[in-house]
Amino acid sequence: MIKENEQGILIVVSGPSGCGKSTLNQLIVSSRKDTIISISDTTRKPREGEKNNVDYNFISKDEFIENITNGKYIEYAIVHSNNYYGTPLDNIDKNLSQGINVILEIDIEGARKVKENKKDAVFIFIMPPSMQILKSRLISRKTETKEQIVERFKKAYQEINEVSKYNYVIVNEDINESIEKMNSIIKCEKCRVDRIEDIYLGNQEEIIHEILMDFEQKEN
Ligand code: 5GP
Repeated sequence: MIKENEQGILIVVSGPSGCGKSTLNQLIVSSRKDTIISISDTTRKPREGEKNNVDYNFISKDEFIENITNGKYIEYAIVHSNNYYGTPLDNIDKNLSQGINVILEIDIEGARKVKENKKDAVFIFIMPPSMQILKSRLISRKTETKEQIVERFKKAYQEINEVSKYNYVIVNEDINESIEKMNSIIKCEKCRVDRIEDIYLGNQEEIIHEILMDFEQKEN
């Protein structure tokens, strides 16, 4: 009766460092066959345990700048400590056209640029339950120096001020509840009326005729 647009949804997820967005996104894609996370390029050094071409494509600054010149990125930004981060364009449209939802885990500046190009993307902001909890999470993961933690914390304040530019907010207190909320958002977005391409109602006269015939048969 309804033909829906079969395109996947472009889901932009932002939130301060330490809010748990990576964990949440990983859990979402491991439980859904129809959703992937786009792997960004970055010039920052890998943290312990991070894998090249899995967590990020770790590349040099020269390579990054060459990619910018060649128009490889849908968006890029200089995020922390003068490191470049960019979202490669190539895989996004291909996956969306095959009905695969694509998650972009990017900062607010990148999200703003995506909004200019992709009007139908969905923007989700992941919020820590409190700044005290964010502070504890950043310190306890032991992946940044004191200076980097301070820098990320300052940026967190700036980022949280931008939350009203997003479509949805998830306060990441209980991970299972956050997963449920994210899945609900995807479900809701699939029901948007602007995804309807066509409506087949059948012939009104014919259906009314059938109704009348049904009644006539019952009456006799
Ligand atoms: P981290 O160094 O902690 O992995 O990421 C730092 C920040 O960079 C996070 O806010 C993350 O969302 C953002 N980020 C990661 N990849 C990209 C990207 O491709 N583009 C932009 N604009 N930000 C990114």
